[in-house]
Amino acid sequence: MAVSLIHRHPWGRAATLDETMTRVPRGWRVATVSRLIEETARARAIVLDVPGWAGHVAGQNVDVRLTAEDGYQAERSYAIASAPESAKVALTVERIDDGEVSSFLTGTLRVADALELRGPSAARSPGAPTMADRCCSSRTAPASCR
Ligand SMILES: Cc1cc2nc3c(=O)[nH]c(=O)nc-3n(C[C@H](O)[C@H](O)[C@H](O)COP(=O)(O)OP(=O)(O)OC[C@H]3O[C@@H](n4cnc5c(N)ncnc54)[C@H](O)[C@@H]3O)c2cc1C
Repeated sequence: MAVSLIHRHPWGRAATLDETMTRVPRGWRVATVSRLIEETARARAIVLDVPGWAGHVAGQNVDVRLTAEDGYQAERSYAIASAPESAKVALTVERIDDGEVSSFLTGTLRVADALELRGPSAARSPGAPTMADRCCSSRTAPASCR
């Protein structure tokens, strides 16, 4: 199933990169998992409610941080897969076998769980494929990607 979360931006248009970079809180904030969509056997879309999210532009990333009970932390970057106009943030994570963070995000994570998030970060190079693009171009991509 495709991630379809088109909501109007409060000021009626997608934010520019300059706008998102100046409105982004510098630190980590806590997002809540609102929906999980199993896109393929190895890829899961994670839809997040992020309080105070000021929008993003196409190609930006966020950092996700996991903290273990003993305090150990791991951070990874993920491309934002939702539309710039969306009020929610969607990430498409491909499971890497034995991957520290991706195996948790594609396996253990449940709806209503909290997730630490930072960003959006600067945009990728124009024309460079995102990981979501790569997932959608793979042989196992869901019909919604083609
Ligand atoms: C700017 C940016 C954007 C990204 N966007 C996405 C995204 O949208 N979706 C997404 O799924 N990932 C994305 N990634 C990759 C993501 O940040 C993690 O690297 C990935 O989820 C693996 O993390 P892990 O902790 O599971 O694996 P780790 O525990 O870090 O690595 C486990 C093993 O897998 C290897 N490995 C790591 N990554 C890959 C890979 N991609 N393919 C094959 N082997 C690998 C490592 O070398 C290591 O041997 C992005 C990375 C960057 C830098």
